[in-house]
Amino acid sequence: MTTLSELNNCDLATFVDTLHGIYEHSPWIPQRVAMLRPFATANALKLALQSVVSAASDDEQLGLIRAHPELAGKAAIAGTLTEESTGEQARAGLNLCSAEEFATLQQLNTAYNQRFGFPFILAVKGPHGRGLSRAAIIETFARRLKNQAADEQAECLRQIHRIAELRLNALLGIEPQLGNTIMEWADVLAEWSDDDDGLTCAYLTPAHRKTAAQLLAWMTAAGMQAEIDAVGNVVGRYRSETPDAKTLITGSHYDTVCNGGKYDGREGILLAIAVVQQLHLRGEKLPFHLEVIGFAEEEGVRFKSTFLGSNAVIGAFDLALLDKADASGMTMRDALIVAGHDPRVIPAIGRNPDDLLGYVEVHIEQGPVLLERNLPVGIVTSIAGSSRYQVELTGVASHAGTTPMTMRRDAAAAAAEIVLMVERRCSQASSLVGTVGQLQVPHGSVNVIPGACRLSLDIRAADDATRDAAVAEVLRDIDAICARRGIEVQVERAVCAPAAPCAPWLMRQLAQATERAGVPAFELLSGAGHDAMAMARITDVAMLFTRCGNGGISHNPLETMTADDAEVSAQIFLDFLRHFQPPTR
Ligand SMILES: [Zn+2]
Repeated sequence: MTTLSELNNCDLATFVDTLHGIYEHSPWIPQRVAMLRPFATANALKLALQSVVSAASDDEQLGLIRAHPELAGKAAIAGTLTEESTGEQARAGLNLCSAEEFATLQQLNTAYNQRFGFPFILAVKGPHGRGLSRAAIIETFARRLKNQAADEQAECLRQIHRIAELRLNALLGIEPQLGNTIMEWADVLAEWSDDDDGLTCAYLTPAHRKTAAQLLAWMTAAGMQAEIDAVGNVVGRYRSETPDAKTLITGSHYDTVCNGGKYDGREGILLAIAVVQQLHLRGEKLPFHLEVIGFAEEEGVRFKSTFLGSNAVIGAFDLALLDKADASGMTMRDALIVAGHDPRVIPAIGRNPDDLLGYVEVHIEQGPVLLERNLPVGIVTSIAGSSRYQVELTGVASHAGTTPMTMRRDAAAAAAEIVLMVERRCSQASSLVGTVGQLQVPHGSVNVIPGACRLSLDIRAADDATRDAAVAEVLRDIDAICARRGIEVQVERAVCAPAAPCAPWLMRQLAQATERAGVPAFELLSGAGHDAMAMARITDVAMLFTRCGNGGISHNPLETMTADDAEVSAQIFLDFLRHFQPPTR
């Protein structure tokens, strides 16, 4: 085994020789990185290796990609792979392919090479480092074959960085222990679903209650006083020795969307439990109480109402929601009672803001920003506010064959113009996004001009002024489009949630912990809503995002992160807790 200090202090030839196997057949990478020594942490060394590749010419990058062998390809059969590649391919069982799997891989290799001109590269040890199944490898191969060339080249480089990360871990004897725990726990919870295939965990279903019980057990084992409250939140307290100390809250939600990913929400709970377990095992106490909350509900799947868990914690749970029924007709009140809760106690869950230091949430990014920047984590500046509308357009349904083009009042054509207008207007500011996600022609028919059209509108921005300005302009343009086309329009506001800016003093402390880990403190906006948005109504909030793999896809079974990124996130959070300073007010 090699140490970081040996790498920092050895001569150039030794450095290049020690790292020769990290990036396949490409000694120029360690050669250039050697000039950047010393490295304070292994993370800093990893990121330096990656930045040298990013700064290299296109030819050099393509050369690096082409230096890699095909998966289960000719080189593997001839036994001419590097030692590292042989071990990795064997670990993934690629040397044990059935004749059929082998034939599929050969076909994919040929098609891929024809399309892109370089070999398909995948870190076959996977996000846990334990090896992907052959089925998963073949599925990923087939999916990536459909990518655009530039995107696929970037993805190959990211996979090469992941391979290098795992090889560097082996060289330096690094075990991402907290990260492994978080990944394993997420796998355990993902087994409990409302559906037979995929992961759906809606509010108060049997899968949801089983998940809560498991979180409670892990919290207790990690040294916390834990309970499930009247709304279903799982709350663990790691008490300070100072009884009247204030409380810092962390956590996220444990419910999921339909067929969701296993890290959305859960990462933030599991990471906090793993970190407390670490503190507890070392007998380390904090000068403040730390509360870890697994929020029962954030996604709104079962009762079409979101943030039930965090709204209860901020004392803003709307008791009228108890009469809301799910698709089967069961009310929320009955669902709570069946689960053993007393809905009358929900108002008592509300925390006193004076007791709180703040709320810090770790969450998977659910987007591609960190992935594209090759950064494991980022610090959230603000959670975008959102405005949602339902728009009803009424034209005249008439015969598609007999009505001349000049005499039509086509509701769908007006909708099409509106969709493009929204896209154009919302491209005008970097933090602004606008989407028409629903578009229907009710009772539409192939030979009838659309007499009606329904569409949704979702506009978000980092700050309220930007969003409000865009919304006002979009609504005015909708009126103008409809007036010109002789279409009647009705607009109904469905949601108006203000942006939740993160507290600069918390962001600064997260940034300092990030930099101490050897990772640059990169700031980004959260376009998605999170429990932190509700918590911001009673206390200062901040969020740390963890990189999301697979192109940044989320709310999807393909959502993924690596054990190493979970590890970096957990180490940063642990370090943040150890250095935490309350604000001076
Ligand atoms: Zn979430």
